[in-house]
Amino acid sequence: MTTTMPNPARKEVIALPPYGAGQTLEQATARNLHPNMINLSVNENPLGPSPAALNAFKTQLHTASCYPDSQCTELSECLSAKLNVAKAQIVFGNGSEDVLSMLCKAFLSQGDKVLVAKPTFALHGIYANMMGAKVLEVPMQSDLSYRIDDWLDAIACHPDLKMLMLANPSNPVGCTFDANNLQRLIDACPLNTIIVIDEAYCEYAQGHKQFTDGLALLQTQPRPYAVLRTFSKAYGLAGLRVGYGVMANAQLADYLHRVRTPYNVNRLAQLAAIAVLQNPSYLADTVTQTNREREKLSASLTELGYFVAPSLANFLFIDVKQPSAHVASLLLQQGIMIKPWLESGFDHFVRVSIGLPEQNLRVLEAFKQL
Ligand code: PMP
Repeated sequence: MTTTMPNPARKEVIALPPYGAGQTLEQATARNLHPNMINLSVNENPLGPSPAALNAFKTQLHTASCYPDSQCTELSECLSAKLNVAKAQIVFGNGSEDVLSMLCKAFLSQGDKVLVAKPTFALHGIYANMMGAKVLEVPMQSDLSYRIDDWLDAIACHPDLKMLMLANPSNPVGCTFDANNLQRLIDACPLNTIIVIDEAYCEYAQGHKQFTDGLALLQTQPRPYAVLRTFSKAYGLAGLRVGYGVMANAQLADYLHRVRTPYNVNRLAQLAAIAVLQNPSYLADTVTQTNREREKLSASLTELGYFVAPSLANFLFIDVKQPSAHVASLLLQQGIMIKPWLESGFDHFVRVSIGLPEQNLRVLEAFKQL
């Protein structure tokens, strides 16, 4: 006789879709599909970690038996000087996704309305849903850009909007709002709406005329906000897991501290993050090479007849005009891992991270054969 165990999970958790993190390069390699597998599915830095980061933590491996600094004191000092914000405004996380989760835990309750883009980074919706919030989407149109009028209309329909989440640049598209439209978006939100600008890819876009630094803009606004950034992408530390949020003030930051786990950023991650902040040339080289390669690959794919959304990040969102999962599996057989977008309306798009020059050539060859 089988007995059914009662299900203790909250209904919001039962309804959550799993986050499709995909397989790691090691897992894909172990399947022996190809002798030279490359992972262009998760927007990592193909140049690897900077030598400064490696040196920083190699010398400190013997401290692994000690807890990390739960306040990330030295890292906070480096970052507050670089960003010109108070230390008390910064909250670190086990990746910026951890900060996203803290934001939802601290500020969202059952039924709160949260506005997000479609398509966007899946965790924007997943973490809001986890809290029982109502996730409202602003769908992109066929030009794959952020359209200010669509956002203004959506905001106008919901005067009780609790939170707005916007990736700047967008993931998976790579688009942005210019300064004027970002300001219009902020002005349109009720004063008590928490504005969350997720800038995981901002380093690639800094200095571009289309890009507006969300932190610089929000710093001048007397309203609740969070700007999220990460060491996972341009800084090349995805495996160490360290990201942060800059909050509008110390009080908002304090609410995040109350819901985070106390030692959420490990020792090696803190050391490596300090090292990369102190050695900015590696970041500059990464960004220069990646942006150059992105523009080359985008132009070549466009020449082949693909629609490639303009991107200011380290990836391209490409219309493959056939089921994206099929294309991803064809490329996997050729040793190239990419991310098929599976969401309705966008399931003929794939997202391809920019790799090393020879890796991007392999991508181009594979697309020629599709
Ligand atoms: N925000 C966006 C828009 C992302 O694409 C990602 C990672 N894919 C994250 C946040 C989280 O990155 P991490 O947790 O590695 O900092």
